[in-house]
Amino acid sequence: MSFQTSPPKLDPAQLMACPQCDALHQAEHLPDGQRARCVRCGTILISPRERSFLHVIAFSFTGMILMIGAIFFPFLEISTRGLHHESSIFGVAMAFSEGWLAPLAFAVLSMIVALPVFRFAALIYTLWPLANGKPAWPHAATMFRLAEESQPWAMAEIFIIGTAVALVKLAGLAKVSLGPAFWAFCVLIIVIALKDSFVSKWTIWDAIERK
Ligand SMILES: [Zn+2]
Repeated sequence: MSFQTSPPKLDPAQLMACPQCDALHQAEHLPDGQRARCVRCGTILISPRERSFLHVIAFSFTGMILMIGAIFFPFLEISTRGLHHESSIFGVAMAFSEGWLAPLAFAVLSMIVALPVFRFAALIYTLWPLANGKPAWPHAATMFRLAEESQPWAMAEIFIIGTAVALVKLAGLAKVSLGPAFWAFCVLIIVIALKDSFVSKWTIWDAIERK
């Protein structure tokens, strides 16, 4: 049995924990087109630079366009006993914008609309120059940090699950049909998931640092 007398010299800045399972790895700059996966769980840790940045930018633009449709198009139509009503998310928020429900309308709009849009915009702002091989724009680090920190508060996905549960209850009382905005939201969730799968934090921070 042998003991190591001196600890191996590791640069803490080069250590990288897997976001899924916390396994520690030593980060390295990879040649173009190669990606690094976690040895324990297979999560992508480092992705090829320019191409993954372009994917994230493309998905962010797609998400923004879908969000516009999701807010302003009819979300659902309810008809019962000859009465017919359709509503968009924006219309509902405006209906609650006066009186004591106003803070609720504000919270809903900011968590399901404003924060996801801000995250898309922050990612585009951070990655646009990097994807074009230029140095990061000023405050890119702040923008990317804010985008990462606001992730738990962006709740477009949770909103759609909540709506689905409410619709099941409502379906017994009236005829409910889903509008284009509902489907826009569903596609938006897929786009957000795809975008997140291309975001390699280490790669982005590394690119921001290398001005
Ligand atoms: Zn892992």
